[in-house]
Amino acid sequence: MSFFADKIIDWYKENKRDLPWRDTKDPYKIWISEIILQQTRVVQGYDYYCRFMTHFPDVNTLAHASEDEVMKCWQGLGYYSRARNLHTAAKMIAEKGCFPTTYEEVRALKGVGDYTAAAICSFAYDLPYSVVDGNVYRVLSRWMGVEDPIDTGAGKKLFASLADEMMDKSRPALYNQAIMDFGALQCVPSSPSCLFCPLADSCVALQKNLVDKLPRKERKTKVLDRYFSYIYVRAGVYTYIKKRAAGDIWQNLYEFPLIETPGEVGEEAILGLPEFHHLLGGHDIQSFRMVSPEIKHVLSHRVIHAKCYEVVLAEENVTLPGFQRIQIDDFHNFPVSRLISRFFSLLLKPNHKKQNHVIE
Ligand code: SF4
Repeated sequence: MSFFADKIIDWYKENKRDLPWRDTKDPYKIWISEIILQQTRVVQGYDYYCRFMTHFPDVNTLAHASEDEVMKCWQGLGYYSRARNLHTAAKMIAEKGCFPTTYEEVRALKGVGDYTAAAICSFAYDLPYSVVDGNVYRVLSRWMGVEDPIDTGAGKKLFASLADEMMDKSRPALYNQAIMDFGALQCVPSSPSCLFCPLADSCVALQKNLVDKLPRKERKTKVLDRYFSYIYVRAGVYTYIKKRAAGDIWQNLYEFPLIETPGEVGEEAILGLPEFHHLLGGHDIQSFRMVSPEIKHVLSHRVIHAKCYEVVLAEENVTLPGFQRIQIDDFHNFPVSRLISRFFSLLLKPNHKKQNHVIE
C-alpha cells in the first residue's frame, strides 16, 4: 500500500532521529544496536551502544572477550540474557569468519528472533523483511483499526502479514526505519498528537475514537513478588560474593550472600533465621546493621522487595563456603545487577549509619 508507505517515509525524512547506528550498513553495528534496543528506550540505550562499541568495536573483539567483561559493559541495562546471547553468537560468527548474510542464517544466531533478523537484514542488506515491534503493532492497529489482540498466536500472525502487506519492498531499510520512528515519535502510546499527523485523514482509530484503546492485549502479565535480604559480610578488607546460577534472574552476575524468603522479613527476624547462621558458619560477629530498608526493584514479571544488611566479622581471615572472598576494593571489577550496585554505593557512603545495631 504505497499511500501509507509514502506518507510515513515523507514524515521520516523530516523527523528522523540522528542515531549512530542509522547511517551504517555494517551488520555488526546494527545487530548490537538492535539487541540493546530490544527492551530499552533509545535515550538509555544510546550511551550503552557507544560504550559497547568502544569496548568491542568488531565481532572478533567481542568473541574473544571474557563473559565477565561483556557483562560488566552491560551492567545496569537489564535483561542480561541479551548480553550472554550476544557473546555466544559473536563466537559463532567469529568461527564462521564473516557475519551471516541471509535471513535464515541471521535468524539462527542466538538471541535473534523474527524482529531482529528482519531489522538486520533490511537495514544492512536491504532485504524485504518487515519488522514487527511494539511501534509497528501500535501504528498498524490504530491506522487500520484492527482490534485483534496483539499477544495471541493468531494476532501475531495477522499483524505479521499486515506488516508485510504494508511494506514498501523497493525500500525496505527506509520503510522499516520510518515506521519504527513514526511509532516511537508520532503515534506514541498515550496522547499522540493526531492533529498534526499526516495519516489523520485516513486513520480508522481516530475516526472511531479508538486511539487510546489500540493496540489491544488479551492477557495481563502476572507479576510475582520476591523477597530478598542481602547480607554484605565484611572481614577486614575482604567481602564475599557469589555468581548467580542459571535458570533465574541475573544469571552470571555477582551478588552478596542472599537469603530469599517467601514473605517480608524484618531486621530482628533475619538474625533468627537458620540461613543467616548457616551463612556465617559460627564466626563471631562484631556488628550488624541495616544498610537499606526495602527497595522495590521492578522487573518485567517480578517485583523484588530487597533489603541489605551489613555484618562485620570479628576476624579477618575467614572463608565462607560457597562464596568467593574478594578485596572490597576489587568489587567494582565484577558485573552486578543495578540493585547490588545501589546497595554497594550506600555501603560506601561514609555517614550512612542507618539503623546500626551492634551484637554483643
Ligand atoms: S492519527 Fe493519531 S492514532 Fe492515527 S496514526 Fe496518526 S498519530 Fe496514530
